[in-house]
Amino acid sequence: MKTEFSLAQLADPDIQEADKILRKCVHCGFCTATCPTYVLLGDELDSPRGRIYLIKDMLENDRAPTQEVAKHIDRCLSCLACMTTCPSGVNYMHLVDQARVKVEEEYARPLPERFLRGVLAYVLPRPGVFRLGMIAARFAKPFAALLPGPTGATAPTFFDRVRAMLALAPARLPQPGPARGTIFPAEGEKRGRVALLQGCAQQVLSPGINQAAIRMLTRNGIEVVLVADEQCCGSLTHHMGRDDDALARARANTDAWTREAARGGLDAVLVTTSGCGTTIKDYGYMLREDAAYAAKAARVSALAKDVTEYLGSLDIAWPQDKNDLVVAYHSACSLQHGQKITQLPKELLSKSGFVVKDVPESHLCCGSAGTYNILQPGIAKRLRERKVANIASTKPDIISAGNIGCMVQIGSVASTDGTSVPVVHTIELLDWATGGPRPDALTSSMKGARIGNA
Ligand code: SF4
Ligand code: SF4
Repeated sequence: MKTEFSLAQLADPDIQEADKILRKCVHCGFCTATCPTYVLLGDELDSPRGRIYLIKDMLENDRAPTQEVAKHIDRCLSCLACMTTCPSGVNYMHLVDQARVKVEEEYARPLPERFLRGVLAYVLPRPGVFRLGMIAARFAKPFAALLPGPTGATAPTFFDRVRAMLALAPARLPQPGPARGTIFPAEGEKRGRVALLQGCAQQVLSPGINQAAIRMLTRNGIEVVLVADEQCCGSLTHHMGRDDDALARARANTDAWTREAARGGLDAVLVTTSGCGTTIKDYGYMLREDAAYAAKAARVSALAKDVTEYLGSLDIAWPQDKNDLVVAYHSACSLQHGQKITQLPKELLSKSGFVVKDVPESHLCCGSAGTYNILQPGIAKRLRERKVANIASTKPDIISAGNIGCMVQIGSVASTDGTSVPVVHTIELLDWATGGPRPDALTSSMKGARIGNA
């Protein structure tokens, strides 16, 4: 694609980067076929190619985002299916990230929306505040029926969003997991040492996921550290265009993990929430212009691994017997499109004895996408219904996923149109099959399973 940035504009490193990305696009439109919003809405401006044109026009003309531009950028899930499909290697992620920052900084959103976004950006990255918010939401949930009725529209109202937010509150919250700063020693001969990202929403909604990872890793000779001064990875605010917050968190985590690596050595920074993993793997890019952090952040990005990626490199004693449980593997967008990890989780589940089924249309997002299911509830609901129907066609006993956002979106907590099939994290199944306890979500429904600790 031909671009027309002036020399003065190209002096800005962000514009230089956008120019490089735009020039790779050959307008072929292959990406439209796999873009969830185009598939649902059929509007070229809700396709990757359409959004690329909007962003190009906005940047070249140095124009503040209009309502129309903000609308189509906001509707993008950042699922990155377009990057998997694109034959020209267009880095849509870095382009839309830049556009989101411009929208956030230069577009005057209506006051109620600004307020809601501010609340989400403050609450979600802080586990203590998030826990209180979930408790408050649980009590407010019955009153959601008093709000004006859902519109199901692609232009959601403030009340549509509040209702979607309240719906996410579970009936009860599990006990918190182990404290920051805890070190879990390896069992037997020590073969490695890793930091495990504690996450923010996940540690409140499902601390059992990281506990399963800790058991599985220590059983296999890996020492696990919960780094004391680590914080939210910044993914949530990054995707809301709030780069000051996201970059501050990226710097703080870069420092925390660098210090830990110097203190005790780190073979990897492991992540059990693939949305966070995609962002941490991008720290090197996000901080590329920061002379004090660029090299350190690139080293941290190189250390970041999804937990399945790391387990795939270990010599694990897998069970000899097959079990009779059919697992539908839900491939989180951040894992398949963001990190290009597609086969490994399924291979590990198969080695653990499960019967693994692929889900039709697995390239299409479930609609979770960070805060998307709150901010765009109408589109998110349609994507959830489509995903749940596709999963149901495989007739699974269990659904496995590698991202808490997808687990909540697909499951029945947040919605009556969620699935009734138990949704568990892949690591919980791997841990169970190799000696750990049965995941909580499965306790009453897995009577036929032939697993040692069933
Ligand atoms: S990131 Fe997803 S929703 Fe956004 S343009 Fe690409 S395919 Fe479409
Ligand atoms: S597939 Fe790639 S090159 Fe083709 S229109 Fe989409 S982004 Fe551009």
